[in-house]
Amino acid sequence: MSRKAQKEIKRLQRSKKEDFPRSQKFLNFLSPAKAKAWTEEIIKQHEYEDLINDRHLPPELTIDQLKALTSITHHNGTFFKDWMECKITPKHLKNAKRHPEIAITPSKSSWFSVAEDYIEFCKANSVENLTVSRHLIALRGKEKEELPLLSTNQGGNQCSHLCDTYGCLRTKHLRIETRELNMSRRYCFGIILQIYRNSAGVDTVTNIKPCKHGQDQERSMDEQLDNSCRKIYVVLVTDKDLFKYK
Ligand SMILES: [Zn+2]
Ligand SMILES: [Zn+2]
Repeated sequence: MSRKAQKEIKRLQRSKKEDFPRSQKFLNFLSPAKAKAWTEEIIKQHEYEDLINDRHLPPELTIDQLKALTSITHHNGTFFKDWMECKITPKHLKNAKRHPEIAITPSKSSWFSVAEDYIEFCKANSVENLTVSRHLIALRGKEKEELPLLSTNQGGNQCSHLCDTYGCLRTKHLRIETRELNMSRRYCFGIILQIYRNSAGVDTVTNIKPCKHGQDQERSMDEQLDNSCRKIYVVLVTDKDLFKYK
């Protein structure tokens, strides 16, 4: 066996032994249905909204222009609005510099959906209070299997935000991916939309290129866009540009 393979086996054995943090243990203690109900409770109580992160739109395209895009396919403004929209509070969209958390204590358990599980978990694990990242609660609600150990180690699993937006709880924007993939999404330019803007200012999508994370010839455009980062880069074509080619 090569030294590299031996090293890899040792690393895997180590990571197996590595203990889950209490917050991740609690998430796996919950059923996905309970985690989903808890996410919905947080969304309601903290007044989450469907909002687009306009930092991920280019100067050529405002949110209103995005919503008004026309297309001969179903990839029009309605499609891209839904594709981009995060489930987030306006405050988090503006200011969050890290993943927002939720604290729970047995005495002040305002989270009706998981109160019983929490008391049971605390008793079994001698725990008094817990702080959990909100996006991981949403992720647990989405995954059928228990969450793997999430860590910042090289090659470790993390929860990626396809929208690269701290605070978003939209499950379509959350994925379990390696740390390396997660990092590369942060520096991704996103998809490329070629848009024809006529003299009346009407925008039509004339071509779409998924981002490097979504590109896959074997898959449909919808699947490729689903795997792409929620950022848009625009190549704008106007009548003036068309004239050049005549
Ligand atoms: Zn999002
Ligand atoms: Zn990407």
